[in-house]
Amino acid sequence: RSKSKGKNTFQFFAPEMDGLAHQHLILENQLRRALSRDELALRYQPVLDAKSGELVGMEALLRWRHPKMGWIPPGNFIPLAEESGLIVPIGEWILETACRDARQLNEKLGKEMFVAVNVSARQFANQKLVDAVSSALEKSGLSCGLLELEVTEGVVLDHVPENKETLIRLSEMNVRLSIDDFGTGYSSLSYLKKFPFDTLKIDRAFISDIQEDSENAALTKAIIAMAHALGLTVIGEGIETEEQAAILEQWHCNYLQGYHYSRPLSIEAYENFARKLIRTKA
Ligand code: C2E
Ligand code: MG
Ligand code: MG
Ligand code: MG
Repeated sequence: RSKSKGKNTFQFFAPEMDGLAHQHLILENQLRRALSRDELALRYQPVLDAKSGELVGMEALLRWRHPKMGWIPPGNFIPLAEESGLIVPIGEWILETACRDARQLNEKLGKEMFVAVNVSARQFANQKLVDAVSSALEKSGLSCGLLELEVTEGVVLDHVPENKETLIRLSEMNVRLSIDDFGTGYSSLSYLKKFPFDTLKIDRAFISDIQEDSENAALTKAIIAMAHALGLTVIGEGIETEEQAAILEQWHCNYLQGYHYSRPLSIEAYENFARKLIRTKA
């Protein structure tokens, strides 16, 4: 795509260009303006301790409020943001907003809860990521240990020397590192011990059918045990039922996240959720 912007610019607007590519271009330009037009928003999903049921943190999830199409989920525009490079400025905004919201929330509630921020491949490969992280922490005053960065297996295993270097620099800043959607990619635990991860998130695909699929159940149990042997905290993602929560708790999964507890919420709604939960636990 980017090549066609050079000497072949005319091709870009050629009549034979299909409708989809045209739509794509329109959407990219709209996304380019989305930040300054205040159309991007973060939603926060609670993460609870499996044993005590206490709130331990939240994951920030990006949304785009498109002026005509309404709310667009991240799966529909993050690939575009990645491809166009817009993920870099958008990612900086996400880091700053998430750190600021977490710091303010913790201050109001007198708690030390973490915020997890997703970082995609292109963002991760960008030289400015480490600076963007330290700047967001500095501006917000959030402690480094309360920011967790979530990356997928692919990010870790592509461009290994550079990405490993970045992971090491981040972990030296005491930022926590999390491996997201575990089990969907390379499914190899051996690389985990070579990288400075703190947390492993078991993908929803495993959890959704642990009650019916005994193979997935056995895998989930094994992943938890091995992750613990490597000193990692384990989060179960996509918990939708009480039964799933009970099974994971029984297998010593540390933290749980999913619609069973709450959908992703605006920061205001999240604060209400947190206050209610804290009250019932008190
Ligand atoms: P993810 O990081 O694995 O996030 C979890 C996704 O599962 C979220 O979808 C969340 O809303 C959804 N989810 C949580 N609990 C349940 C449940 O119980 N059942 C079901 N069916 N779904 C559940 P969402 O918000 O649409 O995000 C999708 C993906 O987009 C994320 O997957 C992440 O890879 C990416 N993403 C989201 N926000 C950001 C962001 O700020 N930056 C980047 N780079 N990527 C993001
Ligand atoms: Mg995530
Ligand atoms: Mg995930
Ligand atoms: Mg995912």
